[in-house]
This record gives sequence, structure tokens and C-alpha cells, in this order.
Amino acid sequence: MSSDRIRRFLAGQLPPTPFLVVDTDVVTERVREFAVELPHSLLFYAVKANPEPAVLGAVLAAGGGFDVASPAEITACLAEGAKPEQLSYGNPIKKPGDIAFAFDRGVRSFTTDTGADLEQLARHAPGAAVTVRMVVDAPASATPFGRKFGAEPADAVRLLRRAAELGLEPAGVGFHVGSQQPDPAAWDAGIAAAAKVFAEVPFRRLNIGGGFGITYRAPVPSLATYATAVRDALDAHFPAGAPELALEPGRAIVGRAGLIRSEVVLVAQRGGHRWVYLDIGRYNGLAETENEAIPYRLEAGDGERGPVVIAGPTCDGDDVLYQHTSYELPLALKAGDTVDILDAGAYTASYSSVSFNGIEPLRTYCLG
Ligand SMILES: *Cc1c(COP(=O)(O)O)cnc(C)c1O
Repeated sequence: MSSDRIRRFLAGQLPPTPFLVVDTDVVTERVREFAVELPHSLLFYAVKANPEPAVLGAVLAAGGGFDVASPAEITACLAEGAKPEQLSYGNPIKKPGDIAFAFDRGVRSFTTDTGADLEQLARHAPGAAVTVRMVVDAPASATPFGRKFGAEPADAVRLLRRAAELGLEPAGVGFHVGSQQPDPAAWDAGIAAAAKVFAEVPFRRLNIGGGFGITYRAPVPSLATYATAVRDALDAHFPAGAPELALEPGRAIVGRAGLIRSEVVLVAQRGGHRWVYLDIGRYNGLAETENEAIPYRLEAGDGERGPVVIAGPTCDGDDVLYQHTSYELPLALKAGDTVDILDAGAYTASYSSVSFNGIEPLRTYCLG
């Protein structure tokens, strides 16, 4: 569904395609919804999902803070008026200079998952609060993290103790169940693992990450259902009272706020399939079609529909959006027609390349 405001924008004088249009009121509503469903939690919007200044401003106005991963993201949030204490440096992979930059700007909350990073934090962010990211045995999400991040519970205990020895504050543990996680039970696994650590080293903050899904073609549970699963898991694993809760949603905040308008460049019959080439593809905004992970909903007008393979405009053989996922588009579709990609506010513009094949990054227009 796209907002009335986006519909009005599309009815007016339009810029050239492709473009992303974002309704920042939807961002505000989503931040407030999290506050209603998981009251008393601290929300840190994952900036990488969509770092548009107006999106950051809407998060801030709704009372949210920011999960940042680099000096540039810190600068962007501070420029929108965020206070350094509203920022959490959530990336366990950082250079010493990145830590020093953050500390110099007033950031005092960092995530880590290795001894080597912890030593760098002690040196360049003395006294800072540290959250140890744990690896979770969660059901597969649409875009899983694999083993790239996270300490095992025993290592998390060691890291928290080492943080204290180094003069850092061992503030808590965290985890991320994988983005576009359709199974609310995934959080139970993470919260159970956190409780094991808590039994050995009590902490004040539990960061349950992002991963809350949104409905693309296949429905996912409502935010209320995710929240109930989280609350139930907290009750089950922290019977004496849970620590303060931190959240890092990205997709669930901004995904539904955006729509991409694209244009058909070419329709061709090849090998018994109808190929539709759009002016947007893997490299200028639809990176999450890799492995066809995210099946976006498309709108392309009425009329009888038939199966298609959908591809992007570049000369790269991987720039095919959907060939295994079945899609149907109007049989009358031709070059110059528009195709709208719904719920495309997250991980689109921020993922688009600078000029692969000379194609410029996806432009964003923020309304609100
Ligand atoms: C990307 C990321 C998020 C946001 O994940 P979503 O699935 O978009 O909610 C949160 N935390 C960390 C550490 C991340 O890297």
C-alpha cells in the first residue's frame, strides 16, 4: 500500500524515472507503533536502511535514536540534530580511527563481538558502554547474517568481564535474528541465549536488534505479533524482570514508507520467455533481489497478465531481478510504461551504485 501523499505526488509533474518517493509520515507512524507495542524500549533506527536526512529527521521527531555503522552515518544523524547519546555504534567491524571519530563526537555506546575490537574500544573510547553481540541460532531470514557476526555465549561472558577490566562499562548483550525475519520465535532463541549470559554477568541492557519483517508478496506477522513473542520470551527467560530493552529496526521503519517508480525499457521474447527490462535493477536500487531474496510487489496497470522474467538495464548477467520467482505482468506492457515497486523504502537507494554502466544512483524524493 502506498500513502495518499505518494499517490498525489505520482499524479503530478514527475521527475525522470527511476526514483524513490518516501512519505516521512509513515516513518513517524512506524516509530510510534514500536513505542506502543514495546513500551519502555529504546529505539535505534538502523540508518543504513535509508539515510535520507528527512527520514532521519522523522525518526528523531518521533522520539527515536540511531544505530550507526560509520563516521558518515554519525555525521548525518548529528546534522539532523540528534544528540550523541541518541546514537549507538552498532557495527562490530570498525577501524581505530572510526572509534576515535565517534568518541570525539560524543558517542558513548558501542557494540562489539571480538577481543581485538574491545581492545581498540578501550584505547579510543575509554569508559564507553559496550554491548556484546551474540550469534543466534535463529530460523533463516530472507537475508541471513550467517556466521559473520556474534560471539558464542561463553565468549560473550568473557568479553563482558574483559570490558570491565579495561575500564569500559559492560552494558549488555545484543543479537540480530537476520533481516526480514518471518518467524517471531527467532527472538526467543536470542533472548534465551542472552539470559544464559545474564546468569553469569548481570547487565542492564538487552539489544534485540532489527529483523522485524514487512509484507512484500508473502505476508509476515504484524508488529503486534512480533512484540508479543518478544514479551513472552522476556517473561520466560527473565522471570525476575528483564533488563532495559533496545531495538534496532531498519526495514520495519522505512520499508513501507517508500515506492519506486520505474519504466519499461524493453520487452523481448527469449528462449520461450517474455523478458521485461526495467530502468532499475540490481545496481541502481534493487540490490535485495540478489538470490531473489526480496520479492517486491509490483504495480503495472490492468489487463490480462502473463508470466515474465524481470531484468535490470545494465550489461551485467547478474542484473536479473526475478527468473525463479514467478511474476506476471500485463501482456500489453511495452517500452515506456511504468512499473511501480511497492514498499521499497528500505535498502534500495542506500544500496545503489555510484555509476555502474553510467547509471546514476537512485534519486529519492521525501514528502512530509
Ligand atoms: C542492518 C542492521 C539492523 C537493521 O535490520 P533490519 O532487518 O532492517 O531491521 C539492525 N542492527 C544492525 C546491527 C544492523 O546491521
